[in-house]
Amino acid sequence: MSTLVFLEHHGDELLKSSLGVLSKAASLGDDVAGVVIGLNVRGLADEAGKYGAAKVYVADDAQLEAPLPQPRVDVLAQLVRDQSIPTVLFANSVLSADVAAGLAARLDAGLNWDLVDIVQEDGKLVGKRPALQDTVYVDVGWTSEPRLALFRSGSFDPSETGGSAEVEDLQVSLEAFSTGARMVDQAHEESSGPSIEDAEVIVAGGRGLGGPENFTLVEELAKALGGAVGATRAVVDAGWYPYSTQVGQTGKTVAPKLYIACGISGAIQHKVGMQSSGVIVAINKDPNAPIFEFADLGVVGDVHNVVPKLTELVKARKS
Ligand SMILES: Cc1cc2nc3c(=O)[nH]c(=O)nc-3n(C[C@H](O)[C@H](O)[C@H](O)COP(=O)(O)OP(=O)(O)OC[C@H]3O[C@@H](n4cnc5c(N)ncnc54)[C@H](O)[C@@H]3O)c2cc1C
Repeated sequence: MSTLVFLEHHGDELLKSSLGVLSKAASLGDDVAGVVIGLNVRGLADEAGKYGAAKVYVADDAQLEAPLPQPRVDVLAQLVRDQSIPTVLFANSVLSADVAAGLAARLDAGLNWDLVDIVQEDGKLVGKRPALQDTVYVDVGWTSEPRLALFRSGSFDPSETGGSAEVEDLQVSLEAFSTGARMVDQAHEESSGPSIEDAEVIVAGGRGLGGPENFTLVEELAKALGGAVGATRAVVDAGWYPYSTQVGQTGKTVAPKLYIACGISGAIQHKVGMQSSGVIVAINKDPNAPIFEFADLGVVGDVHNVVPKLTELVKARKS
């Protein structure tokens, strides 16, 4: 296998961002394998086959139940060494970033992080990494193998090809120092509706909403459209909305079919996180707001008037 993709799962689902990286790796024409690590995860291997993995390695062991990085580094390090795998790819998350960094240290390998794309150029892999506040893209490479890469979440859409993967079980043998940490507690955020990474519609709110209590406007519109709520860093920093919903350079990269920006100026750091959306609609009272430069549809108006009317219209259309 020439490329291995770390397939992260939550519960009994592989993460969309991991499947996106898998699809991208398969599109480069290499032999691609996935690796699933956890407890009772064997069933996830079939899913990976549908997204381009020719082979899926499965490390299924009670010691791997908690989502801790070091045991995963042990599994990956052994696999990469045994199979002489030259390239290992990760979709960014708190866990994946920890695992990728640990694996780079363990294998003395180069890790290019925060990539948004990867291409073959003259037979070599070249990573694309945004720089200077995401205003330019830098080509990055590796000087040795294995090459490790960590991609921004949401960089690639998973594409189902309908294949099936050969499954190989791995013997799990952990280093003594990797079993020192114990997961004491795991809390899941209560939420209804889709997450912003998976949503086909995102209604995002900015400082133009005027206060945290007015987030109900975007929540109601999101609910009517079956979508998720996003936010700008300005409102997250102000404590109006949780960090998990922040879209942008230091938040999440999203690419829904429809992105409705309510009271958002369109700063470059916000734009880089949502510019790949299918249709961008902006509602802003300032006709000169930068967001109108890249919105597909713009409404110059007050969010307090426009958003509730839009919600009413959507509800009326649906009933
Ligand atoms: C290193 C760095 C990283 C950053 N990362 C991120 C990031 O990940 N995500 C992010 O979003 N930002 C990020 N930022 C911050 C970014 O530069 C902007 O400050 C932020 O996006 C602005 O948020 P906003 O649009 O909500 O607020 P503002 O820029 O204050 O815009 C509010 C908008 O609302 C409009 N408005 C006001 N009242 C109304 C009304 N009643 N009806 C309609 N419109 C109204 C105004 O005309 C204005 O355009 C980062 C900045 C830095 C320096």
